[in-house]
Amino acid sequence: LQTKLPAVGTTIFTVMSTLAAERGAVNLGQGFPDFNCDPKLVQAVTDAMTQGLNQYPPMTGVPSLREAVSAKIGSMYGRRYDPASEITVTAGATQAIITAILAVVRPGDEVIVLEPCYDSYVPNIELAGGTVVRVPLVPGTFRPDFDRIAAAINPKTRAILVNSPHNPSATVWSRADMLRLEELLAPTEVLLISDEVYEHMVFDGDGHQSAARFPGLAARAFIVSSFGKTYHVTGWKVGYVAAPAPLTTEFRKVHQFNVFTVNTPVQHALASYMADPTPYLELPAFYQRKRDLFREGLARTKFKLLPSEGSYFQCVDISAVSDLPEAEFCKWLTTEIGVAAIPLSAFYGNGFDQRVVRFCFAKKDETLRTALDRLARL
Ligand code: PMP
Ligand code: GLN
Repeated sequence: LQTKLPAVGTTIFTVMSTLAAERGAVNLGQGFPDFNCDPKLVQAVTDAMTQGLNQYPPMTGVPSLREAVSAKIGSMYGRRYDPASEITVTAGATQAIITAILAVVRPGDEVIVLEPCYDSYVPNIELAGGTVVRVPLVPGTFRPDFDRIAAAINPKTRAILVNSPHNPSATVWSRADMLRLEELLAPTEVLLISDEVYEHMVFDGDGHQSAARFPGLAARAFIVSSFGKTYHVTGWKVGYVAAPAPLTTEFRKVHQFNVFTVNTPVQHALASYMADPTPYLELPAFYQRKRDLFREGLARTKFKLLPSEGSYFQCVDISAVSDLPEAEFCKWLTTEIGVAAIPLSAFYGNGFDQRVVRFCFAKKDETLRTALDRLARL
Protein backbone atom coordinates (compact mmCIF):
# COMPACT_ATOMS: atom_id res chain seq x y z
CA LEU A 1 0.00 0.00 0.00
CA GLN A 2 1.30 3.45 -0.93
CA THR A 3 0.74 5.39 2.27
CA LYS A 4 0.24 9.14 2.63
CA LEU A 5 2.10 9.44 5.91
CA PRO A 6 4.87 6.82 5.78
CA ALA A 7 6.84 8.36 8.64
CA VAL A 8 3.92 8.43 11.07
CA GLY A 9 3.43 5.72 13.69
CA THR A 10 1.37 5.65 16.90
CA THR A 11 1.64 8.91 18.85
CA ILE A 12 4.02 9.02 21.79
CA PHE A 13 1.09 9.93 24.07
CA THR A 14 -0.71 6.68 23.28
CA VAL A 15 2.51 4.67 23.53
CA MET A 16 3.38 6.03 26.97
CA SER A 17 -0.17 5.90 28.36
CA THR A 18 -0.48 2.25 27.25
CA LEU A 19 2.84 1.35 28.86
CA ALA A 20 1.92 3.24 32.04
CA ALA A 21 -1.39 1.36 32.27
CA GLU A 22 0.29 -2.03 31.65
CA ARG A 23 2.89 -1.36 34.34
CA GLY A 24 0.60 0.38 36.82
CA ALA A 25 2.85 3.44 36.66
CA VAL A 26 1.83 6.94 37.72
CA ASN A 27 1.03 8.53 34.37
CA LEU A 28 2.66 11.96 34.16
CA GLY A 29 3.13 11.46 30.41
CA GLN A 30 0.09 12.27 28.27
CA GLY A 31 -1.37 15.64 29.23
CA PHE A 32 -4.74 15.21 30.94
CA PRO A 33 -6.10 15.74 34.47
CA ASP A 34 -6.64 12.71 36.74
CA PHE A 35 -9.34 14.63 38.67
CA ASN A 36 -12.92 15.26 37.63
CA CYS A 37 -14.39 18.46 36.26
CA ASP A 38 -16.84 20.67 38.15
CA PRO A 39 -20.03 18.62 38.84
CA LYS A 40 -22.04 21.67 37.68
CA LEU A 41 -20.66 21.14 34.21
CA VAL A 42 -21.74 17.48 34.19
CA GLN A 43 -25.18 18.53 35.43
CA ALA A 44 -25.43 21.10 32.64
CA VAL A 45 -24.84 18.37 30.02
CA THR A 46 -27.49 16.17 31.64
CA ASP A 47 -29.90 19.11 31.71
CA ALA A 48 -29.31 19.85 28.03
CA MET A 49 -29.90 16.20 27.11
CA THR A 50 -33.06 16.03 29.24
CA GLN A 51 -34.38 19.16 27.56
CA GLY A 52 -34.07 17.36 24.25
CA LEU A 53 -31.05 19.27 22.94
CA ASN A 54 -29.82 16.15 21.19
CA GLN A 55 -30.01 16.81 17.44
CA TYR A 56 -27.62 18.55 15.06
CA PRO A 57 -26.73 22.09 16.12
CA PRO A 58 -25.90 24.72 13.46
CA MET A 59 -22.82 23.81 11.41
CA THR A 60 -20.84 26.66 13.01
CA GLY A 61 -21.73 25.75 16.60
CA VAL A 62 -24.48 26.55 19.11
CA PRO A 63 -25.07 30.35 18.96
CA SER A 64 -24.97 30.83 22.75
CA LEU A 65 -21.56 29.16 22.90
CA ARG A 66 -20.18 31.31 20.09
CA GLU A 67 -21.51 34.36 21.92
CA ALA A 68 -19.91 33.24 25.19
CA VAL A 69 -16.55 32.72 23.45
CA SER A 70 -16.79 36.14 21.81
CA ALA A 71 -17.57 37.77 25.18
CA LYS A 72 -14.62 36.00 26.81
CA ILE A 73 -12.14 37.04 24.11
CA GLY A 74 -13.51 40.59 24.27
CA SER A 75 -13.14 40.91 28.02
CA MET A 76 -9.75 39.21 28.25
CA TYR A 77 -8.00 40.42 25.12
CA GLY A 78 -9.97 43.48 24.00
CA ARG A 79 -10.91 42.36 20.50
CA ARG A 80 -14.47 41.76 19.31
CA TYR A 81 -15.11 38.68 17.19
CA ASP A 82 -18.53 38.47 15.56
CA PRO A 83 -20.08 35.20 16.84
CA ALA A 84 -21.96 34.74 13.56
CA SER A 85 -19.11 35.15 11.11
CA GLU A 86 -15.86 34.84 13.09
CA ILE A 87 -16.20 32.03 15.65
CA THR A 88 -16.60 28.32 14.89
CA VAL A 89 -16.94 25.51 17.43
CA THR A 90 -14.69 22.54 16.66
CA ALA A 91 -14.06 18.97 17.80
CA GLY A 92 -11.17 20.03 20.01
CA ALA A 93 -8.12 22.03 19.03
CA THR A 94 -6.84 19.08 16.99
CA GLN A 95 -9.66 19.39 14.46
CA ALA A 96 -9.42 23.18 14.52
CA ILE A 97 -5.74 23.08 13.58
CA ILE A 98 -6.02 20.53 10.77
CA THR A 99 -9.09 22.28 9.40
CA ALA A 100 -7.35 25.67 9.35
CA ILE A 101 -4.38 24.10 7.58
CA LEU A 102 -6.51 22.27 5.00
CA ALA A 103 -8.48 25.48 4.41
CA VAL A 104 -5.51 27.64 3.48
CA VAL A 105 -2.45 25.53 2.63
CA ARG A 106 -2.17 24.58 -1.06
CA PRO A 107 0.25 22.03 -2.55
CA GLY A 108 3.70 23.56 -2.62
CA ASP A 109 2.98 26.23 0.00
CA GLU A 110 5.52 26.48 2.78
CA VAL A 111 4.40 26.42 6.41
CA ILE A 112 6.77 27.33 9.24
CA VAL A 113 6.70 25.32 12.45
CA LEU A 114 8.86 26.13 15.46
CA GLU A 115 10.50 23.02 16.83
CA PRO A 116 9.91 21.35 19.22
CA CYS A 117 6.22 21.37 18.25
CA TYR A 118 3.00 19.52 18.95
CA ASP A 119 2.92 16.24 17.08
CA SER A 120 -0.07 16.87 14.83
CA TYR A 121 1.25 19.98 13.05
CA VAL A 122 3.69 18.37 10.65
CA PRO A 123 1.43 15.51 9.43
CA ASN A 124 -1.40 18.05 9.05
CA ILE A 125 0.72 20.21 6.73
CA GLU A 126 1.83 17.14 4.78
CA LEU A 127 -1.78 16.02 4.30
CA ALA A 128 -2.53 19.44 2.80
CA GLY A 129 0.37 18.98 0.36
CA GLY A 130 2.34 21.77 2.02
CA THR A 131 6.07 21.85 2.63
CA VAL A 132 7.11 21.89 6.27
CA VAL A 133 9.80 24.43 7.15
CA ARG A 134 11.22 23.69 10.59
CA VAL A 135 12.74 26.56 12.53
CA PRO A 136 14.23 25.61 15.89
CA LEU A 137 13.38 27.49 19.05
CA VAL A 138 16.63 28.58 20.73
CA PRO A 139 18.19 25.40 22.16
CA GLY A 140 18.18 25.40 25.95
CA THR A 141 15.75 28.30 26.44
CA PHE A 142 13.09 27.42 23.82
CA ARG A 143 12.72 31.14 23.00
CA PRO A 144 11.69 32.20 19.48
CA ASP A 145 14.66 33.02 17.26
CA PHE A 146 13.26 35.87 15.18
CA ASP A 147 16.30 36.12 12.93
CA ARG A 148 15.84 32.51 11.90
CA ILE A 149 12.08 32.94 11.51
CA ALA A 150 12.69 36.02 9.33
CA ALA A 151 15.21 34.06 7.24
CA ALA A 152 12.66 31.27 6.68
CA ILE A 153 9.99 33.59 5.27
CA ASN A 154 9.82 33.88 1.48
CA PRO A 155 7.08 34.40 -1.13
CA LYS A 156 6.07 30.73 -0.85
CA THR A 157 5.40 30.98 2.90
CA ARG A 158 1.67 30.56 3.46
CA ALA A 159 1.49 30.33 7.25
CA ILE A 160 3.36 30.06 10.52
CA LEU A 161 2.22 27.98 13.49
CA VAL A 162 2.86 29.45 16.92
CA ASN A 163 2.00 27.85 20.26
CA SER A 164 2.09 29.80 23.54
CA PRO A 165 1.97 28.67 26.32
CA HIS A 166 4.12 26.05 24.70
CA ASN A 167 3.79 22.30 24.67
CA PRO A 168 6.24 20.71 25.48
CA SER A 169 8.64 23.35 26.85
CA ALA A 170 6.17 25.29 29.10
CA THR A 171 7.60 28.61 27.92
CA VAL A 172 5.34 31.61 27.27
CA TRP A 173 5.73 34.29 24.63
CA SER A 174 6.02 37.81 26.07
CA ARG A 175 4.33 40.92 24.76
CA ALA A 176 7.67 41.88 23.20
CA ASP A 177 7.79 38.52 21.37
CA MET A 178 4.29 39.03 19.97
CA LEU A 179 5.11 42.61 18.90
CA ARG A 180 8.22 41.31 17.16
CA LEU A 181 6.17 38.69 15.31
CA GLU A 182 3.63 41.32 14.35
CA GLU A 183 6.37 43.55 12.96
CA LEU A 184 8.00 40.69 11.12
CA LEU A 185 4.78 39.55 9.43
CA ALA A 186 3.56 43.09 8.65
CA PRO A 187 5.08 43.35 5.15
CA THR A 188 3.98 39.78 4.25
CA GLU A 189 0.79 37.87 3.45
CA VAL A 190 1.75 35.08 5.85
CA LEU A 191 -1.16 33.69 7.89
CA LEU A 192 -0.84 32.83 11.57
CA ILE A 193 -2.23 29.72 13.21
CA SER A 194 -2.01 30.52 16.91
CA ASP A 195 -2.44 27.47 19.11
CA GLU A 196 -3.54 28.96 22.44
CA VAL A 197 -4.99 25.87 24.12
CA TYR A 198 -3.16 26.67 27.38
CA GLU A 199 -4.28 30.33 27.37
CA HIS A 200 -5.66 30.10 30.91
CA MET A 201 -2.53 28.53 32.38
CA VAL A 202 0.05 31.31 32.52
CA PHE A 203 2.00 31.75 35.74
CA ASP A 204 3.88 34.58 37.49
CA GLY A 205 3.96 37.11 34.65
CA ASP A 206 1.68 39.49 32.79
CA GLY A 207 -0.82 36.90 31.59
CA HIS A 208 -1.43 35.34 28.23
CA GLN A 209 -0.46 37.38 25.18
CA SER A 210 -3.15 36.20 22.79
CA ALA A 211 -2.74 37.05 19.13
CA ALA A 212 -6.17 38.68 19.58
CA ARG A 213 -4.46 41.51 21.48
CA PHE A 214 -2.32 42.48 18.47
CA PRO A 215 -4.31 43.94 15.55
CA GLY A 216 -1.66 43.11 12.96
CA LEU A 217 -1.64 39.48 14.09
CA ALA A 218 -5.38 39.08 14.73
CA ALA A 219 -6.13 40.25 11.18
CA ARG A 220 -4.24 37.25 9.78
CA ALA A 221 -4.81 34.69 12.55
CA PHE A 222 -6.77 31.56 13.24
CA ILE A 223 -6.80 31.58 17.04
CA VAL A 224 -7.36 28.08 18.41
CA SER A 225 -8.38 27.07 21.92
CA SER A 226 -9.75 24.01 23.70
CA PHE A 227 -12.36 23.62 26.43
CA GLY A 228 -10.71 20.32 27.29
CA LYS A 229 -7.75 22.10 28.87
CA THR A 230 -9.67 24.94 30.48
CA TYR A 231 -12.43 22.93 32.14
CA HIS A 232 -10.62 19.63 32.85
CA VAL A 233 -12.58 17.71 30.20
CA THR A 234 -9.99 16.64 27.63
CA GLY A 235 -12.20 13.73 26.57
CA TRP A 236 -15.05 15.98 25.50
CA LYS A 237 -13.05 17.16 22.50
CA VAL A 238 -14.62 20.58 22.05
CA GLY A 239 -12.69 23.71 21.11
CA TYR A 240 -13.05 26.71 18.87
CA VAL A 241 -11.44 28.87 16.24
CA ALA A 242 -11.69 32.66 16.16
CA ALA A 243 -10.65 34.26 12.87
CA PRO A 244 -11.60 37.29 10.76
CA ALA A 245 -14.65 36.66 8.57
CA PRO A 246 -12.82 35.97 5.27
CA LEU A 247 -10.62 33.36 7.00
CA THR A 248 -13.61 31.90 8.87
CA THR A 249 -15.47 31.52 5.57
CA GLU A 250 -12.63 29.38 4.21
CA PHE A 251 -12.36 27.49 7.50
CA ARG A 252 -16.05 26.59 7.44
CA LYS A 253 -15.87 25.26 3.89
CA VAL A 254 -13.61 22.50 5.19
CA HIS A 255 -15.24 22.17 8.60
CA GLN A 256 -18.65 21.39 7.11
CA PHE A 257 -17.19 18.45 5.24
CA ASN A 258 -14.92 16.95 7.86
CA VAL A 259 -17.12 17.03 10.97
CA PHE A 260 -19.97 19.31 9.88
CA THR A 261 -20.66 20.14 13.53
CA VAL A 262 -19.95 19.21 17.14
CA ASN A 263 -21.76 17.50 20.07
CA THR A 264 -24.92 19.49 20.89
CA PRO A 265 -25.57 18.97 24.63
CA VAL A 266 -21.93 19.57 25.51
CA GLN A 267 -21.99 22.86 23.61
CA HIS A 268 -25.10 24.01 25.50
CA ALA A 269 -23.51 23.01 28.80
CA LEU A 270 -20.30 24.89 28.02
CA ALA A 271 -22.28 27.98 26.99
CA SER A 272 -24.17 28.15 30.27
CA TYR A 273 -21.06 27.32 32.32
CA MET A 274 -19.06 30.09 30.63
CA ALA A 275 -21.51 32.74 31.90
CA ASP A 276 -19.41 32.76 35.08
CA PRO A 277 -15.76 33.61 34.30
CA THR A 278 -14.54 32.47 37.75
CA PRO A 279 -13.39 28.97 36.70
CA TYR A 280 -11.00 30.17 34.01
CA LEU A 281 -9.93 33.24 35.99
CA GLU A 282 -8.95 30.96 38.88
CA LEU A 283 -7.16 28.44 36.69
CA PRO A 284 -3.71 30.10 36.73
CA ALA A 285 -3.61 30.03 40.55
CA PHE A 286 -4.98 26.47 40.61
CA TYR A 287 -2.21 25.17 38.36
CA GLN A 288 0.51 27.43 39.74
CA ARG A 289 0.03 25.82 43.15
CA LYS A 290 0.37 22.35 41.60
CA ARG A 291 3.41 23.45 39.63
CA ASP A 292 5.05 24.76 42.81
CA LEU A 293 4.26 21.59 44.76
CA PHE A 294 5.71 19.48 41.96
CA ARG A 295 8.79 21.66 41.52
CA GLU A 296 9.55 21.68 45.25
CA GLY A 297 9.53 17.88 45.19
CA LEU A 298 11.61 17.66 42.02
CA ALA A 299 14.17 20.06 43.52
CA ARG A 300 15.03 17.24 45.93
CA THR A 301 15.84 14.83 43.07
CA LYS A 302 18.80 14.74 40.70
CA PHE A 303 16.75 16.15 37.82
CA LYS A 304 17.60 19.66 36.71
CA LEU A 305 14.46 21.76 36.54
CA LEU A 306 13.67 23.91 33.51
CA PRO A 307 11.33 26.90 33.95
CA SER A 308 7.58 26.28 33.71
CA GLU A 309 5.97 29.59 32.80
CA GLY A 310 2.67 28.24 31.52
CA SER A 311 0.73 25.10 30.40
CA TYR A 312 0.53 22.11 32.76
CA PHE A 313 3.94 20.73 31.90
CA GLN A 314 7.28 20.66 33.66
CA CYS A 315 10.44 19.72 31.77
CA VAL A 316 13.57 18.34 33.42
CA ASP A 317 17.09 17.62 32.27
CA ILE A 318 17.93 13.96 32.93
CA SER A 319 21.73 14.14 32.44
CA ALA A 320 22.58 13.68 36.12
CA VAL A 321 20.17 10.75 36.46
CA SER A 322 20.82 8.57 33.41
CA ASP A 323 22.89 8.10 30.25
CA LEU A 324 19.97 6.60 28.34
CA PRO A 325 18.51 8.43 25.34
CA GLU A 326 15.31 10.30 26.26
CA ALA A 327 12.87 7.79 24.77
CA GLU A 328 14.63 4.80 26.38
CA PHE A 329 14.79 6.68 29.65
CA CYS A 330 11.03 7.33 29.61
CA LYS A 331 10.32 3.63 29.03
CA TRP A 332 12.75 2.67 31.80
CA LEU A 333 11.29 5.25 34.18
CA THR A 334 7.79 3.89 33.52
CA THR A 335 8.63 0.19 33.87
CA GLU A 336 11.29 0.33 36.61
CA ILE A 337 10.43 3.40 38.68
CA GLY A 338 6.71 3.56 37.99
CA VAL A 339 6.41 7.10 36.63
CA ALA A 340 5.61 7.85 32.98
CA ALA A 341 7.04 10.87 31.14
CA ILE A 342 7.30 12.04 27.53
CA PRO A 343 10.66 12.44 25.71
CA LEU A 344 11.13 15.85 24.08
CA SER A 345 12.67 14.09 21.07
CA ALA A 346 9.08 13.12 20.10
CA PHE A 347 8.43 16.78 19.27
CA TYR A 348 11.27 17.00 16.71
CA GLY A 349 11.27 15.72 13.15
CA ASN A 350 14.81 14.38 13.45
CA GLY A 351 14.39 12.96 16.96
CA PHE A 352 16.86 15.50 18.41
CA ASP A 353 17.83 14.30 21.88
CA GLN A 354 18.79 17.02 24.38
CA ARG A 355 18.37 14.89 27.52
CA VAL A 356 15.09 16.53 28.50
CA VAL A 357 11.75 14.90 29.34
CA ARG A 358 8.30 16.33 30.07
CA PHE A 359 6.06 15.64 33.05
CA CYS A 360 2.38 16.68 33.26
CA PHE A 361 1.34 18.07 36.66
CA ALA A 362 -2.43 18.24 35.97
CA LYS A 363 -2.86 15.64 38.69
CA LYS A 364 -4.29 15.27 42.19
CA ASP A 365 -1.78 16.34 44.85
CA GLU A 366 -1.65 12.74 46.08
CA THR A 367 -0.74 11.54 42.58
CA LEU A 368 2.05 14.10 42.38
CA ARG A 369 3.30 13.07 45.84
CA THR A 370 3.33 9.38 44.89
CA ALA A 371 5.28 10.19 41.74
CA LEU A 372 7.71 12.41 43.67
CA ASP A 373 8.33 9.66 46.27
CA ARG A 374 9.27 7.32 43.44
CA LEU A 375 11.44 9.87 41.64
CA ALA A 376 13.26 10.68 44.90
CA ARG A 377 14.73 7.14 44.81
CA LEU A 378 16.68 7.90 41.63
N1 PMP B 1 -2.35 21.79 20.73
C1 PMP B 1 -1.59 21.56 21.79
C2 PMP B 1 -0.34 22.36 21.97
C3 PMP B 1 -1.95 20.59 22.72
O1 PMP B 1 -1.16 20.34 23.77
C4 PMP B 1 -3.13 19.86 22.53
C5 PMP B 1 -3.59 18.81 23.51
N2 PMP B 1 -2.64 17.95 23.91
C6 PMP B 1 -3.90 20.12 21.40
C7 PMP B 1 -3.48 21.10 20.53
C8 PMP B 1 -5.16 19.36 21.12
O2 PMP B 1 -6.22 19.77 21.91
P1 PMP B 1 -7.63 18.99 21.88
O3 PMP B 1 -7.53 17.89 22.86
O4 PMP B 1 -8.64 20.02 22.25
O5 PMP B 1 -7.83 18.49 20.49
N1 GLN C 1 -1.94 17.19 24.15
C1 GLN C 1 -1.66 16.10 25.01
C2 GLN C 1 -0.19 16.10 25.40
O1 GLN C 1 0.59 16.85 24.87
C3 GLN C 1 -1.98 14.76 24.41
C4 GLN C 1 -3.04 14.72 23.41
C5 GLN C 1 -3.01 13.40 22.70
O2 GLN C 1 -2.93 12.37 23.30
N2 GLN C 1 -3.05 13.46 21.41
O3 GLN C 1 0.18 15.33 26.22
